[in-house]
Amino acid sequence: MEPMAGMHTGRGGRRSALAGGIALAGTAAFRATGPARAQGTSRATCTLADGEDTAAPVDCSGDDAARAGIAASLVARADALAQGDRDAFLATLDLRNPTWRRIQTDYFAARGASVRRVTLRGTPRALQAKPRGYVRATIEFAPPGASATEPGAGSSRASWVFSRGDDGTWRHAEPLNEELGPRRTDDRGLFVLSYYDWDADVLDRVAAVARTAWAKVGQSLPLPVDVRPTISLNPTYASHSGLRGSTTWAAYLPGSRGTVLLRSPDSYGAGTVPIGESPDDQLLVPLAHEMTHLVNDAIISIVRIPQWMSEGLAEHVAEHLRAGDMAGAVRSGRTWTLDKASDVIEWGADPARDYTPSDVSLAYAHAAHGVHYFVERFGMASFWDLAREFATSRSWDRSFVSATGTSWEAFGADWGAWLADRYGRS
Ligand SMILES: [Zn+2]
Repeated sequence: MEPMAGMHTGRGGRRSALAGGIALAGTAAFRATGPARAQGTSRATCTLADGEDTAAPVDCSGDDAARAGIAASLVARADALAQGDRDAFLATLDLRNPTWRRIQTDYFAARGASVRRVTLRGTPRALQAKPRGYVRATIEFAPPGASATEPGAGSSRASWVFSRGDDGTWRHAEPLNEELGPRRTDDRGLFVLSYYDWDADVLDRVAAVARTAWAKVGQSLPLPVDVRPTISLNPTYASHSGLRGSTTWAAYLPGSRGTVLLRSPDSYGAGTVPIGESPDDQLLVPLAHEMTHLVNDAIISIVRIPQWMSEGLAEHVAEHLRAGDMAGAVRSGRTWTLDKASDVIEWGADPARDYTPSDVSLAYAHAAHGVHYFVERFGMASFWDLAREFATSRSWDRSFVSATGTSWEAFGADWGAWLADRYGRS
C-alpha cells in the first residue's frame, strides 16, 4: 500500500488527497440501487437509446464486441507503459477533454520517472452503458507477476470509462462537461447531494457513506444547526477546478458555508480498491475529513488557525491518524515540531520547497497526533478556546498559555515524550 499523501492549498481550498499515484475507491458498477433492472440480465449492446433512463445502472456485460475492444485497449495501454512509448500510450486515450489529456500525460511522465515500476495488466469484467456511447467498465488488475485476479491476493479493481472512436477502437476516456447532463440537487435531509445526471446511479451509495461520515463527525464535534453540507459529486477531473489535482480526493471550500467536493464513486479519479474490499467504505475517511473542515469553519474560520490544528482535527475526527507514518518517524528520530508540520502542509505542493508526498503525509500524521494529544490532555472545549483566542489575538504563545495553562514550548516537549512512549518501542 502506498503511503497516503495529503495535500492542502492555503488560499484556494482545503483538500485532502488520500492516496498516492493510484487513489482509493471506485467501481462495483452493479451495486447501485436502482430498482428497475434485475440482476443477472445483461444486454448485448452497450449503446443506450436516446433519453433512456440512467438512474438505474444499465448492465451491458453481454456485449462481447465492446468487451473485446476494451480488453484490446487495455493491452495496448499496458504495452505502451511498459515500453515507455508515449505516442502509443496517447493512442489509447480519448483526447477530446483537455483536462483528461493532462491527467494522463502527467501520469505517463511520472511513470517514466520510476523505471522499476511494474505495469499492471487489467481485464474488463462488468460493463455498464452510459449516455452518449460511453461505457463504464469494471477493470480487474492482477497483482505484479500474476496473470489471474483473486480476492485477497493483491488483486485490485477500478472503474474506467471508455468511448469508441470513429475507427471502432475503444479508448480510455472522460466525458466532456457538456456530456455529463445537467447538474441537479437531491435533498437527503441531513445534507444535499449536487450531481450530474451522469452520476444518477451512484447517489444512494454516496448518501449512505455521507450519513455515516456526518454521524462520525457528530460524535466528536457539535454539528452546526444552520449549516447543512452540500456534497458536490464530480465524475471527471474537468468537472470542478477544486478537484483538478491528480491525487485530490475531496475538498472543502473555505467560506462556502457547506460545500464539500467529492470524486464520484466509479470514476477513474476514485482509483482502485483491493478486490474484496468495499470501494464505498474508502470514501468515508475523505468525506469525514472534509466535513470536519466544514464544521470547523462554522465554529471558527478555518483560515485563521494553524494548519496543524485544522488538518489535525480533520484527521483526528476521521480516525485517520496515519499511525504507521508517525511510528516510523519516531523510531528513526525524524519527528518535527507542529510548527514545521504546519509549514509542510501549507507548502507541500510547492515545487520550490522540495517536499515529497511522503513528507506531506508525515506532516498530516504529526498534525493528527498533535490534535489527538491536545484533546486527550485538555479536552475539545480547550481546542476551541485556543482557536478563538488565536483567531482574535494573533499572538500564538499568549493564546496557548491562556487556553491551556501550559506554555507552547512545554506542550511540545510533553507531546514528544508522549509520542516516544506510544511509538518508541518496536
Ligand atoms: Zn484537510
